Amino acid sequence: MRVPMIAGNWKMNKTVAEAVAFVKQVKDQLPPASQQETALAAPTLALVPMVSAAAGSPLKVMAENCYYKDSGAFTGETSPRALYAAGIHHVILGHSERRNYFHETDELINKKVKAALANDLCPIVCCDDTMGRRIAYDQKIHWVVNRILADVKDLSEDEVEKVTIAYEPNWAIGTGQSADPDQAEEGCYLIRQTISDMYGSKVANNIRILYGGSVTTKNVGALMAQPDIDGALVGVASLDPKTFLQIVNH
Ligand code: PGA
Repeated sequence: MRVPMIAGNWKMNKTVAEAVAFVKQVKDQLPPASQQETALAAPTLALVPMVSAAAGSPLKVMAENCYYKDSGAFTGETSPRALYAAGIHHVILGHSERRNYFHETDELINKKVKAALANDLCPIVCCDDTMGRRIAYDQKIHWVVNRILADVKDLSEDEVEKVTIAYEPNWAIGTGQSADPDQAEEGCYLIRQTISDMYGSKVANNIRILYGGSVTTKNVGALMAQPDIDGALVGVASLDPKTFLQIVNH
């Protein structure tokens, strides 16, 4: 059985003090991790203080990115090794903002996925999509399929099962226009089918797939009721503690 997950993605929001105050406010009102995982991705500076503040609670603190080398002359980057050593066990990789603003390619994201796994971090790999591509398909092979084939290739079965994938249509991110449950299910189903083709149906049945893009207190229930949607990656609506708790405990 796949354990559902609600993950907040704060992006470049909140100071360290704001992040710690948020964790203290929500940490005692979360479901047990065996029932549903709750996670918050935060700016790098806030991660270590958040881990301390979350101690003893089910809250998982996630990085929003990392590099693919364990150490070295890479000014400004954060290594997966250093994240793990700091008590951070999850990392978002390949978010559409990383792809669009920082020109991250599938090749780089695949390297990051492998480096994260080699350091015992669980990657949340984001798979973007656009309305045009949804309709047109990309050279006979769907955009989403291409992304998954490239981003999570060459992993062992054990490794793939530690990966969570988030289907995030670009037109739904931060726009207030969520994909409707059928569209979101279509994307998540396509991802599961692709994982099945790559790694077999057992792995595909075990892998967790989230939907992301304008998830709110109002639509989270209908989205998560879909058979292939195991949770949500929540941006704007995760910034307010009360709203985040309503989504978590929907
Ligand atoms: P949103 O962001 O919920 O604000 O649309 C989701 C995301 O970018 O992960």
